[in-house]
Amino acid sequence: MKTNRNFKNLKENYLFAEVSKRVQAYNNEFPNSDVISLGIGDVTIPLSVKAVEACKNAAIEMSTRAGFHGYGPYDGYPFLKNAIVDYYKSRGITIDADEVFVTDGAKNGIGNFLDLFDTDNTVMIPDPVYPAYVDANVLSGHKIVYVDATKENGFLAMPPKRVKADIIYICSPNNPTGAAYNAEQLKQWVDYALENQAVILYDAAYEAYIESKGIVRSIFEITGARDCAVEFCSFSKMAGFTGVRCGWTVIPMCSPLNRMWLHRQAIKFNGTSFIVQRMAESMLRGGYEDTRKMVAEYKSNAKIITKKFDSLGIQYTGGVNAPYIWFDCGIDSWQFFDYLLKKARIVCTPGSGFGKNGDGWVRLTSFNSRERTEEAVTRFEAFWKDFIEVRDKLFEPVR
Ligand code: PLP
Repeated sequence: MKTNRNFKNLKENYLFAEVSKRVQAYNNEFPNSDVISLGIGDVTIPLSVKAVEACKNAAIEMSTRAGFHGYGPYDGYPFLKNAIVDYYKSRGITIDADEVFVTDGAKNGIGNFLDLFDTDNTVMIPDPVYPAYVDANVLSGHKIVYVDATKENGFLAMPPKRVKADIIYICSPNNPTGAAYNAEQLKQWVDYALENQAVILYDAAYEAYIESKGIVRSIFEITGARDCAVEFCSFSKMAGFTGVRCGWTVIPMCSPLNRMWLHRQAIKFNGTSFIVQRMAESMLRGGYEDTRKMVAEYKSNAKIITKKFDSLGIQYTGGVNAPYIWFDCGIDSWQFFDYLLKKARIVCTPGSGFGKNGDGWVRLTSFNSRERTEEAVTRFEAFWKDFIEVRDKLFEPVR
């Protein structure tokens, strides 16, 4: 037996493990110290009553002979696929139900999609970004080239002039930076992909957080995208489904990837459960208002953070069209993490864990409760004033 040789090329993914280890060590040393996490990458608001009702009804239906469902379609039940088509339609985007594939989450969709590509492909990944793209491609043995997302380009990497890629990842709104592309910027990516005969794997897991005019919610808003893009979406951050598990992928019919993905799913996937699909449907139909409320609650937490950052003159991206706030701490991200934990009892996520361009930057999330976010911000203000005083004496600048 020979194991996948690429496994040894994976970097020890120590970011979240290391965060927990350091927080645990702090808690052991200072029990009852009331640490607040603004590092949470998971939702915390409970499920909508409408989703729970849909769950109950679907379970009851399954308990009857007439309503029992065994294996479902590999690509999802028509009731959910049609609800997704209508969700796009409400935003003026036309897609066909045959272009929608229901998945058990965007992460699985994005990772498994690599089954469709030959090893002999160059993959372009922005830095910093959601770490799963890099790891999935290392496992697949693809050559990876990075495009820089930095303060200078507003953490929105743009197509490089002389580098060619076959597969391009775009995450907008971005995890971890919260930055999001406008139509003109995405058009440049679409043109680049068409020129290079590349495919864009567009991760829109946070599209429901977009509120700014001109920011794109779906790559299919862009002319030409149907000829070069695939879109991954999720109910996780939109409807609190991180533990329920449901997402979808849109693959235009004109792409050979559409039929290939159906075939791949038929081989390796037996569908998302009927009950979960009914829950997801309820969120796009009668329960849509509940998803808006959830998202609005997280975004009001983000606003609490960004308002304080504005008053403190801290440079940041995100917080407007995303649940993430990404700010410049000016020193080694891990040193900042330790200092913030020690002085303010706040947990953040060090930016260097998302790529080399993340060093000197820090990610905060808006997924804690309003009360805890407010308390954290009060602590942070006192912390920051002190930190600015001592930063140059105690720490080396990172840039
Ligand atoms: N894509 C991005 C950019 C994410 O940040 C996450 C989760 O944090 C996911 C995908 C995973 O989504 P899902 O829960 O649908 O697998």
